[in-house]
Amino acid sequence: MSVLKVSNLSKTFGGIRAVTDVNLSIEKGEIIGLIGPNGAGKTTFFNLLTGIYNPTSGEVVYDLNRIISTRDLKPYKITHYGIARTFQNIRLFQNMSVLDNVLMGFHNGLKYGIASALFKLPSYYKTEKNTFEEACVLLDKFNLLDKKDEISKNLSYGDQRRLEIARALAAKPKLLLLDEPAAGMNPKETKELKELITWIREAFELTVIVIEHDMSLVMEICERIFVFDYGILIANGTPEEIQRDERVIKAYLGGE
Ligand code: ATP
Repeated sequence: MSVLKVSNLSKTFGGIRAVTDVNLSIEKGEIIGLIGPNGAGKTTFFNLLTGIYNPTSGEVVYDLNRIISTRDLKPYKITHYGIARTFQNIRLFQNMSVLDNVLMGFHNGLKYGIASALFKLPSYYKTEKNTFEEACVLLDKFNLLDKKDEISKNLSYGDQRRLEIARALAAKPKLLLLDEPAAGMNPKETKELKELITWIREAFELTVIVIEHDMSLVMEICERIFVFDYGILIANGTPEEIQRDERVIKAYLGGE
């Protein structure tokens, strides 16, 4: 079943054609890799899927019948529809605890996370028991439970990246968009990240699209890969097909 269908999607910024006439379809449960050179339009594509930008033309249909990208939909509404994301540059609430960051991702997290931050009370005094417990289960799965009271900015870079994924999952998405999750990670962290993404797909019954420059991650965990170059979708195939594709080798892989 198609979870996302993108038709003739384009985005221009003045004279810059960031995304040009993209057509693609993604099936429920797939892990999709999105690759391409710097400036190829990958993040712009995520921004179109999450309501940060409205398209210049074209449309995005999510979950068979929700048109999410031709209307002036706000990002929070799209999160409610079941699409969550992480960012290329980590966007945690840096001065809040690890636990409060995850609580912010839950429906009630907004209210209670802010309350506990404002009144300097431990989150569990203010939050609902179930939400607190769910957050702890999530943090445990990400090996972050023993750091739940640490201030987020004091975490290692790899832990911050994983916390961002945990927070995105707290919104209970069906489609998870990860923007360069391995950026800045060491080989051990990257290996753990590969296992984590594969695991969360099963555990949360997710569809995942991951933008990544780390080719080992993309080739090992993605069933299909989309390749962007100058805003154009130049190839779409399995890792084996993409690695053999002359256009992809010329535009991207050859230079690696
Ligand atoms: P990278 O791998 O470096 O993150 P990318 O594939 O994600 O690159 P985008 O960030 O989507 O590429 O950028 C695509 C093009 O659109 C680039 O030429 C970029 O400068 C331009 N662009 C993106 N956002 C804007 C904006 N808000 N205003 C003007 N130009 C923009």
